[in-house]
Amino acid sequence: MTSSKVSATTTGRELTKLVTPGPILLLGAPGSGKGTQAKELVRLWGIPQISTGDLLRANVAQGTELGKVADALMKEGKFVSDDLVNQMVEARLALPDTHNGFILDGFPRTLPQALWVDSHILFTIPLVAVKINVDYNQLLRRITGRRNCPQCQRIYNVFMHTPKRAGYCDVDGSELTQRSDDTEEVYKGRMKAYADLTAPVIEHYRQQGRFVEVDGDLSVDEVTTEIKRAIERLRRNQ
Ligand code: AMP
Repeated sequence: MTSSKVSATTTGRELTKLVTPGPILLLGAPGSGKGTQAKELVRLWGIPQISTGDLLRANVAQGTELGKVADALMKEGKFVSDDLVNQMVEARLALPDTHNGFILDGFPRTLPQALWVDSHILFTIPLVAVKINVDYNQLLRRITGRRNCPQCQRIYNVFMHTPKRAGYCDVDGSELTQRSDDTEEVYKGRMKAYADLTAPVIEHYRQQGRFVEVDGDLSVDEVTTEIKRAIERLRRNQ
């Protein structure tokens, strides 16, 4: 365990005592590390990560009606309709594990989704929003180099976090896969959708307050520490 890991974990324990995490919204471009950071916060606070991308991919894998609609759109980097995504999130939020809070990852992604959140998420404490900032070229390397273990869900990168044996998971030896939307061509479309449709969401939460930005170019542990400190500050000031 590295020293930064120790300090990140310690900070997490202190926070667990200090705050009810409540609803947390992670914002940032595709590849900015929302999923990775959400998993760290899940580990520390025991609240669920609600990733609309993961929920949609599960629907595609199970061949549900929603999955059939989402599949083609996702392959092209286009958004699934607000109504369908809102309904999917509503069903997920009804599960009892969201009692102390939850981390929304990849949602809301459009202004109508954000307005739906404002009127439908009635938690005892208000939502806090954290935006992770990462440079565009770095995002492109993260996305096009990303490889996933289909078995244990670990994420590797052929440029910066390579497995010991190229193409195979270090933990369980499964052959790594690449998401069909993690190509440069599709990524450009995803970034355009982000700029056109998600930028207004960021402004919406910036104006509401309880909003912070963190530098996502730092190490994973450092970004986690920044996020936890920011949430603690926001919760103390609410
Ligand atoms: P992600 O895993 O968050 O990068 O999402 C992968 C894909 O799922 C996106 O490119 C969209 O096609 C779809 N998707 C995920 N979240 C949403 C959302 N909140 N609204 C609409 N489409 C979404």
